[in-house]
Amino acid sequence: MTINGGISVIGAGTMGNGIAHVFAQRGYKVTLIDVSQPQLDKALATIGKNLDRMVAKEIIRKELKDETLKNITTSNSIAEGVKNASLVVEAATENVDLKLNIFRQMDESAPSDCVLATNTSSISITKIAAATNRPDAVIGMHFMNPVPVMKLVEIITNPATSKEVTESIVALSKDLGKVPCVVNDFPGFIANRILMPMINEAVYSLHEGVAGVEEIDTIMKLGMAHPMGPLQLADLIGLDVCLSIMKVLHEGFKNDKYTPCPLLEELVASGKLGSKSGEGFYVYTPGSKELVVSSRFNQP
Ligand code: NAD
Repeated sequence: MTINGGISVIGAGTMGNGIAHVFAQRGYKVTLIDVSQPQLDKALATIGKNLDRMVAKEIIRKELKDETLKNITTSNSIAEGVKNASLVVEAATENVDLKLNIFRQMDESAPSDCVLATNTSSISITKIAAATNRPDAVIGMHFMNPVPVMKLVEIITNPATSKEVTESIVALSKDLGKVPCVVNDFPGFIANRILMPMINEAVYSLHEGVAGVEEIDTIMKLGMAHPMGPLQLADLIGLDVCLSIMKVLHEGFKNDKYTPCPLLEELVASGKLGSKSGEGFYVYTPGSKELVVSSRFNQP
């Protein structure tokens, strides 16, 4: 089984725009689907900006930028947007009921031989597959943020996923220049089962007054040779996404060691979602690369 037809991507947020970008740059025809027209407009602008940066750094030719943008069309309708797809990658908001509903619609409207993948960070692939009539063709294709830069694709099989589908997604990931790793379906898979408790512990350390934002991030950056601190990484991922994943781990393993930090809950409830909303542990000013700690965490 080879996937060489159209690719549809559902959700044009942080991850959806990056996923559409890498497929389109590799020459695939991509339909990017979102319920929100402003999100689609923003996604196209972001892809254009990221391609401009690659041209300026001489990573790609200007012609490839133009070809990449030409390969992307947009749609507000799942039924319309997936009807000719050979693969659909769902990258909508991390919410189980929303995803089950989207997979029912994908299953109804996509061709019968189309593979249905999800970029979920933590939701059970087995549960998502059970919402369709083709669990053998449902698989996790977990790209990392920022997608054009990060090499890893964590591929998650559910017990029904066929060998052909797994092999085709592994081959496709390699064709995109990525490194695929196949894992089994457990809460948080591997990446977030290990990463999120570390981020949550960093938030607890801040909440309990052990240290400030800068100290926590500097210690983990310089002490562990991490490219960025856990609080900055949480802002990049999205604090709402981090909270959803902690809830999935907490409920999935029924173990209180995964209890989300109340400070994380509070930030999300007040709309402070990290870089995408302009503020989380840090504040983000468009056009500025300076990392400024949010005033609510200023130490006396
Ligand atoms: P986001 O909030 O940036 O974007 C989600 C998008 O989904 C929004 O544009 C929203 O309008 C759209 N959407 C919501 N309901 C929809 C529907 N019914 N149909 C079509 N579009 C719909 O979220 P994100 O950070 O891009 O996360 C998307 C997925 O990727 C989640 O499952 C998340 O867990 C996963 N993920 C996120 C990261 C990360 O670093 N942010 C990394 C890996 C995986």
